[in-house]
Amino acid sequence: MTIAYDDQNIFAKILRGEIPSEPIAETEHSLAFRDIRPQAPVHVLVIPKGAYVTYADFARDASEAEIVDFTRLVGQLAEELDLVPSPGGGGHRLISNAGADAHQEVPHMHIHLLGGRALGGLLPAM
Ligand code: AMP
Repeated sequence: MTIAYDDQNIFAKILRGEIPSEPIAETEHSLAFRDIRPQAPVHVLVIPKGAYVTYADFARDASEAEIVDFTRLVGQLAEELDLVPSPGGGGHRLISNAGADAHQEVPHMHIHLLGGRALGGLLPAM
């Protein structure tokens, strides 16, 4: 069972222009803006403009045009923001939280693009 989309979530309000954000890129189907509580020197959120709660909802229900647009934007931003892995270091991490176990705070599908420092292990030990 999936969670119904709540159009009063913060990212829906950002998309409608009801609250401000710090946008860095916008395409036909996607928007990227700075996270308000950055966890790394670069911490960008990329969201589809459509009403999807989780990545799985997006993958199932979005059109191919939306999926291509979103996927390309994430990759382009990693390059444009200089988060490309090189022999000397660099790189980035992509995270998409879904639901309570993952501590998803905003129920509008998003990917965190993080980089600019060594990010450590993926998760604390069990
Ligand atoms: P998640 O736990 O994956 O749902 O992450 C939601 C993210 O949204 C958190 O990293 C928050 O800091 C971020 N966030 C919440 N409100 C805003 C806002 N108004 N503008 C930008 N980022 C936000």
